[in-house]
Amino acid sequence: MNYCSQCGETVTVKVPAGDYVLRHVCDACGIIHYQNPKIVVGCIPEWEDRILLCKRAIEPRYGLWTLPAGFMENGETVQQGAARETLEEANARVQVGALYALFNLPHINQVYMLFRSRLLDLDFGPGAESLETELLDQSQIPWDKIAFPVIHESLSLYFQDRANGDFPLRTGDIQRLAGPGRRYEVCMRDTAEPTS
Ligand SMILES: [Zn+2]
Repeated sequence: MNYCSQCGETVTVKVPAGDYVLRHVCDACGIIHYQNPKIVVGCIPEWEDRILLCKRAIEPRYGLWTLPAGFMENGETVQQGAARETLEEANARVQVGALYALFNLPHINQVYMLFRSRLLDLDFGPGAESLETELLDQSQIPWDKIAFPVIHESLSLYFQDRANGDFPLRTGDIQRLAGPGRRYEVCMRDTAEPTS
């Protein structure tokens, strides 16, 4: 950020009084432009023993498979956002159910919230951001062609939990490891006791 979105003057990166983090602060009007994590909301759309996946038509990860999910918009709830993303990416109507996965992705400043949801009919198909949409059973999941680690982890947990007939809320952290290549560390938090 070089210019203030409030008044158009230049901004300086500094720690404001009483703060401890570098911020973009306007040199003219003094407004502090806070930058905070984004929430990504999405669905695991279920139809009998299958779930709906989308093949991405956009970067990043063009041509790889993912669950319908995207950035939450102002003025909507997380459930409304998850349903909207499912409609936009898969032209699919869902009844949004329980929150199933909540992952922190601090290396890219995102929080993922994925909801189990019930597909209302089979009238779906690729939206503008998808090449294909498919209902897949567990044996058909393209595990080596999943777009994002958070989706891979969520799907893996989902099928484990489904085998047990119980879907507790899964929460965890996914961090990208330093060094070459795309390597990630997953740390689950859902069984963690509160620490004092
Ligand atoms: Zn300003």
